[in-house]
Amino acid sequence: MARIDFLGTGNAFSPQGRMHALALLDSRVLIDAPPTLLPQLRRARISPGQLQHVLFTHWHGDHAFGFPFLLLDRKFISDPFGENNLEVHLRPGGREYLSVLCEMGFPGSLGDSLDSRVEWNEKETATLGETGWGYERFPVHHTPETDPHGYELVHESGFRLLHCGDSGPCPEIENRANGVDVAILEMGVPDIGEFPHHHRPSDVISFSERFPDVKVLVTHNFARSPNCETGFEIPELPSRIVQLNDGDSIDIDDNGIFIVNN
Ligand SMILES: [Zn+2]
Ligand SMILES: [Zn+2]
Repeated sequence: MARIDFLGTGNAFSPQGRMHALALLDSRVLIDAPPTLLPQLRRARISPGQLQHVLFTHWHGDHAFGFPFLLLDRKFISDPFGENNLEVHLRPGGREYLSVLCEMGFPGSLGDSLDSRVEWNEKETATLGETGWGYERFPVHHTPETDPHGYELVHESGFRLLHCGDSGPCPEIENRANGVDVAILEMGVPDIGEFPHHHRPSDVISFSERFPDVKVLVTHNFARSPNCETGFEIPELPSRIVQLNDGDSIDIDDNGIFIVNN
């Protein structure tokens, strides 16, 4: 059994009813660390100290600014004796970026955590310890200064997940989409112009038409959540496409068969 929780499904502007997007695998593998990471974990009753891996997609604030808070909580509250290993998976240069961020946020407080409580992994492929998950990282099309990437994740059950990070349509996503069970696409902007660094509703629809066998889940949504009345209207997408909301999840059985709880 495996499980994926979506504790946030909003874009950088955190639209009404949505916190910033993140995905959490089996309560211990985190994909991205948005600014509101701690309240998102607390709402789901998950201790920051139980996280074992953090995978970063790119260096935009809505994906990374929660990292200093994660280290701070682990150091002083949830893992004060440094008993739980935290492996951070990131691109070359990311360690320096996160170190600057931590020093800016909590000057003088997190140097020891960065040096001795984090294992840094810059490899493009990895097996995530005993979790049953492994990944291949791949480049995507987003603001180049953020070194944007996605992750193709495989679970020991056979379940395959394409997490595309923040990206507009791009060949790497197209090349990897065949054969995955689920593709997570961001939909950061509405259909009001050209936005090559993001998927618009029309881009999501055309992707799902090209890959009818892939379950398409939308996150990093620009629109309000269904239980809010103000903000951008929720776009109409074909029913086969799931627009994720905060608190949604995927359950995966031992044979890789999955259901989306939406
Ligand atoms: Zn973003
Ligand atoms: Zn971004």
